[in-house]
Amino acid sequence: MTTYSHSRLGTFQQCKYKYKLQYVDKIKVDIPDTVETFMGKLVHETLEKLYKDLKYQKLNAKKELLNFFEMLWDERWSDNIVIVKDYSQENYKEMGKKFISDYYDHYKPFNHLTTIGLETEDRMKLENENQYHIRIDRLACDKEGNYYVCDYKTNNKLKAQEELDEDRQLAMYSLWVKNNFKDCKNVKLVWYFLAFDKEMISERSEEQLQELKIETEELIKEIEVCDDFPTTVTALCDWCKFKSMCPAWKHEIELEEKTPEEFKDDDGVRLVDELTSFEDQKKEAVKKIEEIKEQLIQFAKQKDVEVVWGTDKKASVKPFEKIDYPKDEEFIELLKQKGVYDDLVTLNYSKLASKVKKNLIDKEILDKIKTEESWRISLSKRKE
Ligand code: SF4
Repeated sequence: MTTYSHSRLGTFQQCKYKYKLQYVDKIKVDIPDTVETFMGKLVHETLEKLYKDLKYQKLNAKKELLNFFEMLWDERWSDNIVIVKDYSQENYKEMGKKFISDYYDHYKPFNHLTTIGLETEDRMKLENENQYHIRIDRLACDKEGNYYVCDYKTNNKLKAQEELDEDRQLAMYSLWVKNNFKDCKNVKLVWYFLAFDKEMISERSEEQLQELKIETEELIKEIEVCDDFPTTVTALCDWCKFKSMCPAWKHEIELEEKTPEEFKDDDGVRLVDELTSFEDQKKEAVKKIEEIKEQLIQFAKQKDVEVVWGTDKKASVKPFEKIDYPKDEEFIELLKQKGVYDDLVTLNYSKLASKVKKNLIDKEILDKIKTEESWRISLSKRKE
């Protein structure tokens, strides 16, 4: 039995290599939080305190909450916390305070909903004895049978409504709410984008929820049979705790430690620079070849010749009829009707390879196929 969570599934979809390190190999990396994560955690804890105290009829003044946030910040701040962007910890601290302050002003006296759960730690049963971790920032309800699955967002990106309507995290939680609270008529998924003092809501129909459940279970099946965990490099790598051991970045991180002389002497740097230089020359040569061919055609036309003679080689320059045919379905249908399609069609080997890799092919065919390790090398720009 495995417990899946939104972040576990998200990690698999973001980068399979990261998933392997985190959930299969269970590698513990003692890397401090980024400042964004640190600030987000403290804002969550402060809002948790606000609603927890309210359950005991204690309404904190805004100042008290801000003091609580500052106290947590000062107690827990460590200079190891990673700041990727060009701002100071003070900037982030002030951001966190502004989020809390705006939220407080917007929703005080916080009595329009009843809080049922804070930072929940429940589990929902899934297929094959698996479970789904239900971690709701705040679960609340009103007297009309509406339940509110609330999530605080502390990042600087406001999501579009369409994105929220597709969001898996809160929608999965609403399945759990519907199963557990029989008086529940509607579940509203609510995101508080604290950086914008903005609340956004989404709802799902019963069909959408069932579809989502099936999709999630399919994704879990894919995870459970997965035995190939390639890296996926994206902008999110800057926030990945495994970056220093990731094969996509390890060499760059090693180079960062080197002096300019050591950098130049590095075998990897030398080989990539040489390959870049030859690839550039090859591109230039291909361009030049096309220009010369065009000039040869003009030469042959002017002289009315079909062979042009050089020192060691001669060039045959002859016109031919280039056939242009439609590339649409209608034309393919016509070829099939006229019985010529099977003679002309060739197997799409790259599609076949992709099916083999994904294990989506009949076992009898699979048994006939051998796989061996091969290498693909491609050059791309280093990021600026
Ligand atoms: S650094 Fe990027 S590519 Fe490497 S494991 Fe992390 S997310 Fe994947």
